Amino acid sequence: MSDMSTILVIEDDKYISHFIDLSLSKEGYRVVIAETGDEGMFLFSSYHPSIVLLDLGLPDRDGVDILRELRTFTDVPILVVSARGQEAEKIAALDLGANDYVTKPFHMGELMARIRVAERAAAKTNAGTAEARFVCDWLTVDYEKHRVLVDGKEIHLTPIEYKTLLLLIANRGKVLTHNYIIRQIWGYEGGDSKSVRVFMASLRRKLEKDSTHPRFILTEVGVGYRFSDL
Ligand code: CA
Repeated sequence: MSDMSTILVIEDDKYISHFIDLSLSKEGYRVVIAETGDEGMFLFSSYHPSIVLLDLGLPDRDGVDILRELRTFTDVPILVVSARGQEAEKIAALDLGANDYVTKPFHMGELMARIRVAERAAAKTNAGTAEARFVCDWLTVDYEKHRVLVDGKEIHLTPIEYKTLLLLIANRGKVLTHNYIIRQIWGYEGGDSKSVRVFMASLRRKLEKDSTHPRFILTEVGVGYRFSDL
């Protein structure tokens, strides 16, 4: 990005926020730190950050609540920072539209990589959805003709497989939970993640060259899936 990106860090652990601040500032980001959820909401509206790092364990409010509130008015990428033992909160945050997560303790390199993925995803969203086709390596999706090609040869997908693929591509780089996928594809909650696994397995058989080392449809163990076009 040419402009300096502002990153809002909502984190009550001063050691962690200081460490993030130093590392991100060195990379040319402008860092704004909030130590409570309310302060985070206030700073969000003052600074309009391009990315939010959100700790789930905050002194005043539940991080999941903050996320829910942010998602009522913004699609800005939100990376959740969770501690071990906060699996349920982490999944809830991803269900509500968090882009990604890191688990404490994390390496700065890992956080930077995830920030870059989130930035790219945001840049693509801002560029609009006018693209007529998606092309990455051997995979081509022609949106107008509803055609999917592998190495230039058309393959057949069922309507649900096609819909699932479009959902994954539209959210590339982002972690999609089982519940999120169920809601988007079948339109109700509480569906079983087993059917999601079945559809993903069949999509992989059709799209991937090596299903055991997928190129596109990556598994986030215990959470869901992520489509990678990197
Ligand atoms: Ca905390």
